[in-house]
Amino acid sequence: MVDLPKRPGDNLEHWLKGCVSRRQTQHLERYRRVVSGNSAVDIQMGGKSLLNFSSNDYLGLAAHPELVAALKDGADSNGVGSGASALVSGFREQHHLLEIELAEFLQREKVLLCSSGYLANLAVATSLTRKGDVIIQDRLCHASLIDAARLSKARLLRYAHADMEALRQQLELENHGNTLVVSDGVFSMDGDTAPLATMAMLCEDHRAWLVVDDAHGIGVCGPGGRGSVAAAGLDGQQVPILTGTLGKAFGCFGAFIAGSETLVNHLVNEARSYIYTTAMPPALAAAARAALRRVIEDDWRREHLHTLIRHFKQGAASRDLALMDSDSPIQPMIIGDSRATLDLAADLQRQGFLVVAIRPPTVPVGTARLRITLSTTHQPAQLNALLDAIAAATSHV
Ligand SMILES: *Cc1c(COP(=O)(O)O)cnc(C)c1O
Repeated sequence: MVDLPKRPGDNLEHWLKGCVSRRQTQHLERYRRVVSGNSAVDIQMGGKSLLNFSSNDYLGLAAHPELVAALKDGADSNGVGSGASALVSGFREQHHLLEIELAEFLQREKVLLCSSGYLANLAVATSLTRKGDVIIQDRLCHASLIDAARLSKARLLRYAHADMEALRQQLELENHGNTLVVSDGVFSMDGDTAPLATMAMLCEDHRAWLVVDDAHGIGVCGPGGRGSVAAAGLDGQQVPILTGTLGKAFGCFGAFIAGSETLVNHLVNEARSYIYTTAMPPALAAAARAALRRVIEDDWRREHLHTLIRHFKQGAASRDLALMDSDSPIQPMIIGDSRATLDLAADLQRQGFLVVAIRPPTVPVGTARLRITLSTTHQPAQLNALLDAIAAATSHV
């Protein structure tokens, strides 16, 4: 939030307007766009058709007919709302089956469905640590992981992005409690992958528990789409706590925590962000089961996505456009200045491309960027068109 002190006696609207103008002068004002359409790629905004390069629907499943049918059937047989939290009467057969199928897919004993990835991360940090414990995070961890650590009573230490020597030093600090080491698997705003194998080794040496939030990895990378943990050759011993969302590659909504049976029992009993919220609609769980079948069976979606990623990176290089070093569908281009990034995004939008400008505090100050995300449903010619538009728009700056 912008930093604006409240003066004694300040009226609410006056104070809020002060915040608005502070955000505007820093080019940090945010607004929402009303988007319509049922495709990952072709969307409508304000009566205009745009190509969407700002969606996390990496596998093009959000509008898949099988998911849509499963959602409709699920609503026919279960109604819409689950009616209660999972511990009261909201835990339905579709949830139960999805948990079993996800556990099998992820090769973990158990899975706990959560209402969102944000809440899943709160559940983990607040139920596994207390006062006197330590949580260590990569500095670029997702906001939900930062908030989770803040809500827990543990001390939060952060190390420079992917700096394993800094992590080692923090693990060596005196600590008589539990230590949780927490990281994105694939970093949400940079698209690179955490050095998970080294992290697992360090955690083993220091008896720390490794938590990986693989929101952008599961379904997209690793053997069978099992994510960045599986890609690093790590299992449930080395990464005992794995979280992920159903809102990105799965094209649905909701999230999960995967681990041992004892871990899941503990969360069911202790995790307030699990206990005190309504269970996700059972029809959504049915849709997520359909998504999981596509994730498991459609290797071609991942293979084609990775072909598009290579095509995009080569296309950028041949036009002298500098992308960040990422092999994931998240392909950011750093512009630096927030204003310049907004101007470029607006220019691209006029030409028919939705690429949202990502600015502080989502990313560090001075690293505002275009966060370009690719979906398996993009056409190579659409990637070329976007790259041509960026090259033309940036050639005169
Ligand atoms: C999107 C995201 C989340 C939040 O997941 P939701 O299901 O959208 O709440 C958590 N962690 C990371 C790394 C994410 O990118």
